[in-house]
Amino acid sequence: MRQLIAGNWKMNGLTAEAEALAEAIREGVSNAQTPPAADLLLCPPFTAIATVARVLAGSGIAWGAQDCHMSDHGAHTGDVAPGMLRDLGASHVILGHSERRHHHNELDETVREKCVAAMRAGLIPIVCVGESEEQRAAGQEQDVVGWQIKGSLPDGFAGIVAYEPVWAIGTGRSATEEDVAAMHGFVRAELIRQLGEDAGAAIPVLYGGSVNPDNAGAILSLPEVGGALVGGASLKAHDFLSIIHHAETA
Ligand code: PEP
Repeated sequence: MRQLIAGNWKMNGLTAEAEALAEAIREGVSNAQTPPAADLLLCPPFTAIATVARVLAGSGIAWGAQDCHMSDHGAHTGDVAPGMLRDLGASHVILGHSERRHHHNELDETVREKCVAAMRAGLIPIVCVGESEEQRAAGQEQDVVGWQIKGSLPDGFAGIVAYEPVWAIGTGRSATEEDVAAMHGFVRAELIRQLGEDAGAAIPVLYGGSVNPDNAGAILSLPEVGGALVGGASLKAHDFLSIIHHAETA
C-alpha cells in the first residue's frame, strides 16, 4: 500500500498565499529526481480550494477539505456539503479532527453521519481519532481510541483513519516511536475486530501530531503507519517536501 502524505493547512492562507504554497509544492514534486513514492494530498481552507485545485490540476497531487456537512444541501447557514467539495474536484475530506471535536463539540455520531455523506458524494473520508493528555496519563488511550473508532466509522467504511494524539497536535511534541507503533498496532487490531478481516486490514492508518522533517523518517518507517497527516509543517513547502522525501525512502 502506498503511503499518503496529507497536508492540513487548517485556517491559514489567503488565496494568494495558498496559490504560492501549492505552486511551490507542485514544482518541488515535479523537479524531484524521482517521482514521489507516496500519494500526496493538500487540504486548504474552503476559501482556497478552487485556487489550489487550479494549481494542482494534472500534477498528480490531490486536494481535499478539512470538514463537510452531513446533508447534501439545505438550510445550513455557513456549512459546506460534500457534493460541493466534489464539485471542486476534491477527493478527500478530513473529519473529526480534534480541533473540531473540541471547539465545535463534534461527537462520534456527528463524525459518523458526515462520513456517510462524504462517501455517498464520492469523497474519501480521513477520520481522526486520538486521546487527550489526561486520558493518556490515566492509561485510557486504547479505550478512548477504540470507542472513537466504533462510534465514528459507519458500516461499510471505505476511507482512512488518522491516529492523532491530541497532546501531540501543534505542540512540537510528537509521540515516541514506541507509542506510535503501539497505538497503530492497536488501531489495526480494532479495525479488524470491528469491520472484519478484509475491510479492517485494507484501511490506511496515518499518524498525525507534530510530524516534521526530523522525525518523519522514523515515524514513516514504523509498521502499520500508512502515511502522515501534517499540520504546521505542511505550511512550509520545504518542510513538506522533505517529509515527502522520507516517505520515498522509508
Ligand atoms: C493536524 O492538524 O492534524 C496536525 C497533526 O497538526 P501538527 O502537524 O501541526 O501537529
